Amino acid sequence: MAKRVLVVEDEAPIRELISLNLRLSDCQVDEAESAEKALTLIETNQPYDVAILDVMLPGMNGFSLCETIRRQNNSIGIIILSAKSQEQDKIQGLSIGADDYMTKPFSVSELLARVEALCRRVGRTAPEQTSQQADRIQSGIFALDRKSRILYKRDQPIDLTQVEFQIMELFFENQGTAMVREKILEGVWGENYFGDVKIVDVNIRRLRMKIEDEPSSPQHILTVWGYGYRWKG
Ligand code: CA
Repeated sequence: MAKRVLVVEDEAPIRELISLNLRLSDCQVDEAESAEKALTLIETNQPYDVAILDVMLPGMNGFSLCETIRRQNNSIGIIILSAKSQEQDKIQGLSIGADDYMTKPFSVSELLARVEALCRRVGRTAPEQTSQQADRIQSGIFALDRKSRILYKRDQPIDLTQVEFQIMELFFENQGTAMVREKILEGVWGENYFGDVKIVDVNIRRLRMKIEDEPSSPQHILTVWGYGYRWKG
């Protein structure tokens, strides 16, 4: 099935360049020059696999758009495009629910690789399960349902993005094991991911807000100083 991608960027040459290249790699692409248009497209069209959001847009900016999309949709993959000087944007972008970010100027082939990687992770194209894998894994008060891709805490479902779910899946498969950041990055973002390991930390911070009773003193996603993280159910 062709991947469906939404490209949101007001600068026509950039938007068209991205869209053209995505179409050349067999994606089905819709373009929006504003956040408002993007929201209309999301509402009326078939579900998108990935949305690429530029930060600087007239009217509603890319961050607000990302937050608005996430309020209703956890399954779409979101990549934020920000200008080079906006270092802080990256962190902000990820804490509001983006899965990945790229800084301008960026290479189109790298963007395509990231779209590809993100599509593999989002629900509709989830990797095939082997028959040995249990559908439901229990860990203390938590349960992870692979079929519905939902995490439960004391039987209450927790709203997670696909990337957050995959991190949890990795934790559940490696219970009690200290996992180095690079390993988490490789396991969730893929071996050929170009980004840096900070993306792991921001996703962990977000996960803690969602699953810990007291995110500032986590009892489940434990920090292993100078190394990475360890899951305790
Ligand atoms: Ca722009």
